Amino acid sequence: MGQTREGTMANWTRVGLSVLLLLCGCATNGGAGPAMPAAMGAGARYAIAIDRVAPLRLHVTATLPSVADRLQMSTTRPGGIDVLDRQGWPGIVSGLRAAAPDGSPIGVEPVGEEGWRLAREATGPVTLHYQVDYAPLVALDWPAANESGYADADAIVLAGRSVFITVPGQSASHVGIDAPEGWHVASPWPGAGDGPGFVAGSVPDLVDNLFVLTRHRPDSVRSEGFTVTLVPLGHWRQASTEVRGTVDPIARQYTRLLPVEGAPPYLMVLMPQRARGGESFRNSFAMTVEDPPGPGNRARWGNTLAHELFHYWNGWRLRGKDYAATQWFQEGFTEYMANRAMLEAGLVTPDQFLQSLSTHVANYRRLESTLEAPGTRKGPPLYSGGALTAFLWDVAIRDASEGERDLDDVFAALWRRTDRGARDYDWRDIRAALDATQMHDWEGFRQRHLSGREALPIVEALRTLGLQLVEKAGGQPDVRRDHAAATSARALRAQYGLD
Ligand SMILES: [Zn+2]
Repeated sequence: MGQTREGTMANWTRVGLSVLLLLCGCATNGGAGPAMPAAMGAGARYAIAIDRVAPLRLHVTATLPSVADRLQMSTTRPGGIDVLDRQGWPGIVSGLRAAAPDGSPIGVEPVGEEGWRLAREATGPVTLHYQVDYAPLVALDWPAANESGYADADAIVLAGRSVFITVPGQSASHVGIDAPEGWHVASPWPGAGDGPGFVAGSVPDLVDNLFVLTRHRPDSVRSEGFTVTLVPLGHWRQASTEVRGTVDPIARQYTRLLPVEGAPPYLMVLMPQRARGGESFRNSFAMTVEDPPGPGNRARWGNTLAHELFHYWNGWRLRGKDYAATQWFQEGFTEYMANRAMLEAGLVTPDQFLQSLSTHVANYRRLESTLEAPGTRKGPPLYSGGALTAFLWDVAIRDASEGERDLDDVFAALWRRTDRGARDYDWRDIRAALDATQMHDWEGFRQRHLSGREALPIVEALRTLGLQLVEKAGGQPDVRRDHAAATSARALRAQYGLD
């Protein structure tokens, strides 16, 4: 769900289930946390070892519940990589053997990108042995590293979807990872309380996430029972103080607004490649930047961190029933909340915030569809249109409530209304959250500007906040303070933090 690489989501498939897990624990191997349920039932166990360092190959031993005759892998994968295009993740699995509880072998038959079929049903847990051979990705120098994996002398970063074979109906999974001597494991799963390893609460938590083996000890920040584990790699290592100083206040704002006490740890992997990109997972993300990160360019990389982190709430938990028709909310409101969090944390100046509003106006002018019917076209015009919608609503609520309420209250209401994202939302939920915050003609707004083609009333909202839209030479929009603004508008602008 990054701003520039939307690769795996581009086929508009939905990944994972909207299950909110309330597990506690910490991010390092062997930390305190919940034990596996005493009755494992549909639980699974995995032991992962490095079978060959270069090119990377893993050896996986798995004990899976015998609830079906299917073995599965995620079908979500980056496009444009030959082996994955043709065979899916099973294309990098080799030497797969299955055995019944008595040790007798069970035949496995490939059934394409989705996995394999077992020749017979076992009467108890099925044991698998297999290798995951990343040689085809290494040969291409780890293409789409944020989405699949990456290894160098310092770290191994892997997407769960590339590693885990699962069965339908599988519940929690214990994951043991045999790291090289002196290395650390960072994962988005709580530690298993009764020993080393981790517990992923569901198959989506297992496969729609990243985990990392690294030579350097990961950093972490904690806020309101929410732990963010930071793994800065390559050129990010020199900026680890700035990264920590950015994530800490942002995570505090988000967790105060949308509480998630006892949630599993969240993992941020800051990848060493020099390119602009990012990929969001259920409890983790990976991102890359072009220029070495530091204090000078924090407005840019910090906003991306803030954007990706807010997807933990808006995107992975708050989810629209209709994926395409709610991207204006999922992406646009995430971007606006990131912009505002950066301003409120003092990580960007008011002028930098106004500059990002100007960019949204310029991007939105290129939107060729309505906000609710973007077809298959995602990207800056849609995201910025969504961000401006968030801005307009925030301003309207602040204005009508004389600064008592704002867009935060809408998110809080939607969070409660969807039972913290356990239930998918539609427009009626959004409207109810808006009505609960501030009465207004929200339905009319939707018909004109979201499902309809009427342009967003940006100039009017800017005026309400004591701002104005000026066209620079070349027609570039420029949002500025209006020195002739009315007293009430100046008061609202000051309260917003733009003076
Ligand atoms: Zn996004």
